[in-house]
Amino acid sequence: MMVWDELREEIIEVFNARTREMGLPADMELNIIEDAPVDGEYVYGEAFPEENRIWLEVVGPDASDDEIMETICHELVHLEHPELDHDSEVFEIIVKRSMRA
Ligand SMILES: [Zn+2]
Repeated sequence: MMVWDELREEIIEVFNARTREMGLPADMELNIIEDAPVDGEYVYGEAFPEENRIWLEVVGPDASDDEIMETICHELVHLEHPELDHDSEVFEIIVKRSMRA
């Protein structure tokens, strides 16, 4: 769908910039969808450290840039530090730091 092409390109740019900064070769599977059950989250991510890959689903009309950025960083930190629990404070700190990089 044409309307999402620009958003897709922007997200890929963010992803490429983050992986470059982190020195982390990774792939991303990106799905942009038009709607999803409303639960306050418009970006969903999952990390597959063994495949060096993240999966991202973005609710096109509602996802904010911040949410997209934070989720990409969050999932990339899972690839970088598969040993860390994502509820831990240190995980959160690394995510915040990678968002600023
Ligand atoms: Zn997580």
